[in-house]
Amino acid sequence: MPVEDPAAIAMEQLRAWFHLHSLIQGRWESVFAGHRGELAKLDQLLRRNRNYLQTIYDQTEARLSGLKVAGKVLECRSCGFSSGELDSPTRLVSGVACHVCGDRYAVIRFDCGNAYPLDGATFEFDCDCGVLHKVQDLISKYDESRDLSPKDQLIHGPGRYRCGECLSIEETVVPIDGAYTCLGCGAEWGDEGPESCEWCNELWFGYSLEGSYLNGCELCEGKIEWDSD
Ligand SMILES: [Zn+2]
Ligand SMILES: [Zn+2]
Ligand SMILES: [Zn+2]
Ligand SMILES: [Zn+2]
Repeated sequence: MPVEDPAAIAMEQLRAWFHLHSLIQGRWESVFAGHRGELAKLDQLLRRNRNYLQTIYDQTEARLSGLKVAGKVLECRSCGFSSGELDSPTRLVSGVACHVCGDRYAVIRFDCGNAYPLDGATFEFDCDCGVLHKVQDLISKYDESRDLSPKDQLIHGPGRYRCGECLSIEETVVPIDGAYTCLGCGAEWGDEGPESCEWCNELWFGYSLEGSYLNGCELCEGKIEWDSD
């Protein structure tokens, strides 16, 4: 490689930064702790550079190939490289962590095998497989009171709940494989049931209901406002 080739020098510098940055984040972390902000800014700047991302991709490709064989990698929504690692590849909703650009998000994977990012606002996916996948159908499928008679449904209350993360106007949280999961944004909460607003009794996940008797929740005004009307 001729030393005077500027592109080669730039890539060399990017590769050097990639290794240096790994060391700074790992082994040398304590030494550089005081410069964390500046270093993060520099890294952000370089990540916008496609060549830099390509360099990272080349460096991580060997590590990713094993994951790819295991069906745990998809194309990242942000950088477009095949570098998004699925944390739960067999589940309907899975987290994705990108090895190249660092983006983290959730995807929903339909029966056809295609996966789409969940953004808290998209509830229909016009899929390459020819089907219009509707999230509403899945919410009905996993609704906790789906098997109850209409009378028991009235007593039991709704079997789908509100999400405090995406604040979707629909009730989007249902239990899937033992974890309450929002099919709007992909947030997850384990197997403990919802909490209710102390004023309006609306059932929530991921929403702070402390003081809700007085101050209400996203859907109600609470006692203070009520009294002042
Ligand atoms: Zn990415
Ligand atoms: Zn499909
Ligand atoms: Zn949500
Ligand atoms: Zn409320």
